[in-house]
Amino acid sequence: MCIHQENGDTNNALQFIEDVTSRCNEVQSRVLAEILSQNSEVEYLKRYGLPKGCVDRETFKSKVPVAMYEDLKPDIQRVVNGDFSPILCARPFSQLFSSSGTSGGEPNLIPATDQEIPRRHQQYKVLLPLVSQCFQGLENGKVLSFLFIRDETKTQGGLMAVGCLTSYNKSLYDLGNTPCDPYNNFTGPKEAILCLDNFQSIYTQLLCGFYQRNEVVRVDAHFASTLVVVIHFLRDHYSELCDDISSGTLSTKISDTGLRAHMVEHVVKRPEPELAKLVYNACKGENWEGILKKIWPNIKYLDVIVTGSMAQYIPVLNHYSGGVPIVSLKYTCSEGAFGINLNPLCDPYEVSYTLIPNMAYFEFLPLNTSSSDNEQSLDNEQSSDQLVDLADVKVGHEYELVVTTYDGLYRLRVEDVLSPTGFYNSAPQFKFVRRNNVLLSVHAEKTTESELQNAMEKVYDVLQNFGTIRVVDYTSYADVKTIPGHYVIYCELSTTTSDATTKLGLDDVMEKCCLTIENSMSYVYRYYRVHNPAIGPLEIRVVKKGTFDKMRDFAISRGASLGQYKVPRCVKFIPLLELLNHGVISTHFSPSLPQCSL
Ligand code: AMP
Repeated sequence: MCIHQENGDTNNALQFIEDVTSRCNEVQSRVLAEILSQNSEVEYLKRYGLPKGCVDRETFKSKVPVAMYEDLKPDIQRVVNGDFSPILCARPFSQLFSSSGTSGGEPNLIPATDQEIPRRHQQYKVLLPLVSQCFQGLENGKVLSFLFIRDETKTQGGLMAVGCLTSYNKSLYDLGNTPCDPYNNFTGPKEAILCLDNFQSIYTQLLCGFYQRNEVVRVDAHFASTLVVVIHFLRDHYSELCDDISSGTLSTKISDTGLRAHMVEHVVKRPEPELAKLVYNACKGENWEGILKKIWPNIKYLDVIVTGSMAQYIPVLNHYSGGVPIVSLKYTCSEGAFGINLNPLCDPYEVSYTLIPNMAYFEFLPLNTSSSDNEQSLDNEQSSDQLVDLADVKVGHEYELVVTTYDGLYRLRVEDVLSPTGFYNSAPQFKFVRRNNVLLSVHAEKTTESELQNAMEKVYDVLQNFGTIRVVDYTSYADVKTIPGHYVIYCELSTTTSDATTKLGLDDVMEKCCLTIENSMSYVYRYYRVHNPAIGPLEIRVVKKGTFDKMRDFAISRGASLGQYKVPRCVKFIPLLELLNHGVISTHFSPSLPQCSL
């Protein structure tokens, strides 16, 4: 049985998916057997007494413990320090992926061999055939793709630490996958994508997109938030961009020599006043509804991740896109590219990812959950149940994903909570529920990211009744300096000048929003707020326009990549809190208690 795609076998990609998903459990056994036989001599597996040559699933489970990143950290640190003995993996590591997950404030480092990136390429070969079933003519069009890279750092032992997206994006060129791969036929040149300066990269990728506006069939960024950043960049810089187009010159801000040379020679070659006028007219007004479709009339879909905490960007992307479908295709992390959405046209709020059974050996840690809010356990710890195999998960339950990979991670908890929604053949499909960490807690209650996200969605509904006030972005903070402690939600708002909201009006609206959030919180939260006042009134702090951009720039200045950056939904880091507090223009508290009947 073939559990890996052959090179260049794009046409058979869909058949391949049918095949591996039809034999989910069998493929999983083969994957584990391959991983264990390749790595039978590694120190980690010997340490836990896995008999040499043993590929048996049950023996593996009984000997090798489930691990958190912290547990693997001493071994990974040895790799970082230059110990290249086979500690975790028989194949040598070629790089370390620096992940957005952190331990002790530092990014987690996930070691990767030279096989990991090609494995991701193989996985993604299925994407074009998959979406081509839904949209005609993708093969002949171009992709306005906002790809970015970030700095790499050399670790003490000599391996480079790099974001997995950076590594993947660079590899598109290393492997010669462009421009012959129609899925990756980008409007932007390699010089723009590989430019480390985000301003220059976005500016030139936009310029290239304008010149090829009729050819663009897809707009692409990894996370939805990245695309929103790019659209806001366009709002701030369209005038300058149009000047360049109409005069056939290039802004002096584009100083990267290779990029500048490419742009001058191949893109901004002569004045194009008509094009400049068209873009300028589309951008000049206050109303940006459908802006993407106005500038790029032939786009068929937006390819961005909109699940998990990215779901909050669906309304704003719908607004900008002018009805173009949003397709959220990939579930991927530094540990591996695990999931694909096999139903690209589904409602963006209903996306499920199929974990492709040949990518890793997957197990699932059942979580104690209850469907009823009133029954939320006061101690929402993971249960000590046995881990469940991929083929055995139950629809509607919640699990934390645990992976064993070809590159030497054994039973590692990924800290993502997934919930099966159904099966594709025998392979389960999962909704991404949340990152398995509690976001906010000031007493015994534990508020998760998805609970806060749900509450904010209610806020968006409330705001619909008040003109065009919109939440641009938000984050939160558990303020335990007050007694009792309380939740603080930092919100950046956008409103058009026509709103003319008075100070009093805004107070009223924001107080309603505070109470709306509290009413959406868990029973435990409301209980401790109402019956046993251990939680104080929720506070919204409205921050100045641009505060969240500053937060992002701050993260980037500390080594985050624009492509991988996600707004933290809870802030604990003091300099970030100071940045947010510096931007506060008004504060509002819940005016009354939320509903809570025993
Ligand atoms: P990183 O290792 O920095 O690439 O971050 C990976 C994490 O991003 C995952 O563990 C998830 O928490 C999140 N993530 C990746 N893909 C998705 C997705 N499709 N939906 C929601 N969250 C995602």
